[in-house]
Amino acid sequence: QNDFYLDRQARRESNARSYPRRFPVALKSASGCTVTDVDGRTYIDCLAGAGTLALGHNHPEVVAALQAVLTSGLPLHTLDLSTPVKDQFVSDIFDTLPAGLHNQAKIQFCSPSGSDAVEAAIKLAKTATGRTDVIAFSGAYHGMSQGALSLMGSLGPKAAVGQLVPGAHFFPYPYSYRCPFGRGGEETGLLAAEHFERALKDPEGGINLPAAVILEAVQGEGGVIPAPAAWLKAIRRVTRELGIPLILDEVQSGVGRTGTFYAFEKAGIVPDILVLSKAIGGGLPLAVTIYHQELDLWKPGAHAGTFRGNQLAMAAGSKTLEIIKRDGLVERAARAGKRLRANLEQIAASTSYIGEVRGEGLMLGVEVVDPRGAYDGLGHPPHGHDIAKTIQNDVFRAGLIMETGGRYGSVLRLLPPLVISDTEIDQVSAIIGAAFDRLER
Ligand code: PMP
Repeated sequence: QNDFYLDRQARRESNARSYPRRFPVALKSASGCTVTDVDGRTYIDCLAGAGTLALGHNHPEVVAALQAVLTSGLPLHTLDLSTPVKDQFVSDIFDTLPAGLHNQAKIQFCSPSGSDAVEAAIKLAKTATGRTDVIAFSGAYHGMSQGALSLMGSLGPKAAVGQLVPGAHFFPYPYSYRCPFGRGGEETGLLAAEHFERALKDPEGGINLPAAVILEAVQGEGGVIPAPAAWLKAIRRVTRELGIPLILDEVQSGVGRTGTFYAFEKAGIVPDILVLSKAIGGGLPLAVTIYHQELDLWKPGAHAGTFRGNQLAMAAGSKTLEIIKRDGLVERAARAGKRLRANLEQIAASTSYIGEVRGEGLMLGVEVVDPRGAYDGLGHPPHGHDIAKTIQNDVFRAGLIMETGGRYGSVLRLLPPLVISDTEIDQVSAIIGAAFDRLER
């Protein structure tokens, strides 16, 4: 059955398709943290819509909320006109904002992708400041549309496209394991912050005062790299001193995933602009840009999009936010993340193919290395891209779906639903452990 669907699909679909190449399955059903293919094989889903499914697949209360909207007679598509469902969603998402933004926030609904919310954030910052340049960081991922792509901190995905939006500048992100300054540890964050501050404050630094600085408090696609709190605090201090709007892209790290509702909370900072998508729609497409009202200097129609603010997505989003709060899932993510991390660290201790286990909450990464290669100045073996692919294929055959990422595709990424059980965590760990064991043999 599977082969039948996959053959048909492969003949029709673009070369640009990605996941079907790595996970050659046609999926038929899903519940909680598991998905089942048309042949009846079941997989634990640690990709979970690239971190979208905070409550897992088909959460019964989310499904019921969707059914209630569908039978209520509510207009399902209203552009950005108000409805009670929309009004509820706006109060629910505002309730998650930190003091300092909460009472002074404005929201812009976007075409339902993280990329479009990033586009809106950049356009808003440019409009409000009258400036054009934007600073992003090495390894950053903000989306695939051309503005967001121009802020991507790795060249691979941009190479074929040629000239993108001009004015993007990149600074080193504090990636301690492969420290751009050759130091590592706490020093990486301090040096990266110092470099940023000096360059921006030097009148001859060669950079125009930018319209915005955009960053992820934990890089996801870039290889699951958490920014140290001290670095985040420094970037916030410098951007505030210089009057540069700071955009936090919490598309992947937001909504409880890292063990706090937003990943930036660990540093006690407040962004000027916050970009959200993925989990806020409860598994349905939704994206918003939230920002301080002082920046609300654009004109009506400055950012639009036919499918902004889908009613079903807002209903699923509200129900998801309600359950996360009611069931203490942010704390649960922190606890579950600790367990998974401890298991992964135990695996790392028994193999020479893992360089580092890192991440926060249930946003975890395992950097795979090739111990047979030449070690770098910090004493780390080279990236293990092919080995990571082997592990990904191997665990897939054993019933686990997980993504890889990072500059070299050598980081195994785990983004399970926040509701993953301890039993499932131990199953995931056992599958990964067995795959590394096979490498050692
Ligand atoms: N920002 C971050 C941090 C992301 O991880 C992603 C998607 N992986 C995006 C933006 C883009 O979101 P979308 O794919 O919905 O356009």
